[in-house]
Amino acid sequence: MHRRLSAKALGDWFSEEGKDFPWRRTRDPYAILVSEMMLQQTRVAHVLGKGYYTRFLETFPDVHALAAADDSGLLKAWEGLGYYRRARMLREAAAAVVRLHGGIIPKNEDELLALPGIGPYTAAALLSFAFGKPSALVDGNVHRVLSRLMDDAAPIDSTATRKRHTAWARLLCDPENPRRHNYAMMELGQTLCRPGAPRCEACPVAKFCAAREPHELPVKKKRAETTEITEHAIWTRDAEGRVLLHHESGSRRKGLWKLPLRPAPGCAASRVIFTDIYTITRYKVNLIIHDGTGHLDEEGDRWVSPDQLASLPMAAPFRRAVIRLMADF
Ligand code: SF4
Repeated sequence: MHRRLSAKALGDWFSEEGKDFPWRRTRDPYAILVSEMMLQQTRVAHVLGKGYYTRFLETFPDVHALAAADDSGLLKAWEGLGYYRRARMLREAAAAVVRLHGGIIPKNEDELLALPGIGPYTAAALLSFAFGKPSALVDGNVHRVLSRLMDDAAPIDSTATRKRHTAWARLLCDPENPRRHNYAMMELGQTLCRPGAPRCEACPVAKFCAAREPHELPVKKKRAETTEITEHAIWTRDAEGRVLLHHESGSRRKGLWKLPLRPAPGCAASRVIFTDIYTITRYKVNLIIHDGTGHLDEEGDRWVSPDQLASLPMAAPFRRAVIRLMADF
């Protein structure tokens, strides 16, 4: 592959066709860090569609504000994005930047990697997008592009392939404009070199591409099967109209609120008033909500007035249920 020529063709294409996302308009490392954390497990359209990114930056405009955020405010600002652990890691990273670097996000890879929640990918994104340094930035889209460009049929979810792709990405990165180059590689994967059938006829690097059967690449190992589980929750309001909620203390969703869960046998005689299905990691969850008449409150349960409901951080499936149930019961 003619590295320089392919980098130039790709960069020229991106300058013409690249999408204008808010995080591509800034070089503020804090704003870029927030976007990278949000986009780790959430699609661009979702992050943009409901204004999560802009609202989060308005609520916490810099590392100092985020480092000082309390749990409730942090989770509320993250509500709707899921995977709340990311919000906490982001706050931990901000606190470490304040404590160790006087509130300035470091420009050095080792110092970035020493921050909580910042792995090689996020460090590479900051180096490239905020500080304009050449770095090997390989997300799922870039893995697909590299598998095809190099006609690499090894599974992209193996460590050896990931290392090889990182080395290729470093080699291919345009030293004169690493920021544009990395955005362009991602954009190519999102638009033309998309999953399934790529649009090779419109691709700026088609003449450098080695793929013989691009629609068959990349190859992945067999995925772990989805496990189906059922959660039984109760809906109870008292004479003042307050709703019984549960404040989570477990590690995964600590600090979030939800409807109180109860064991299935105890719910068998209670009327079902709402059902939903949602997925989280490899679980498909059947959420069944029962009329809570006759159920007692337990440790961690709290009575919450309707006025307070909107301001409490709540995972999306429970928020949906509460909105419906408030209207119906
Ligand atoms: S030519 Fe086709 S397969 Fe190769 S990088 Fe471009 S879009 Fe992907």
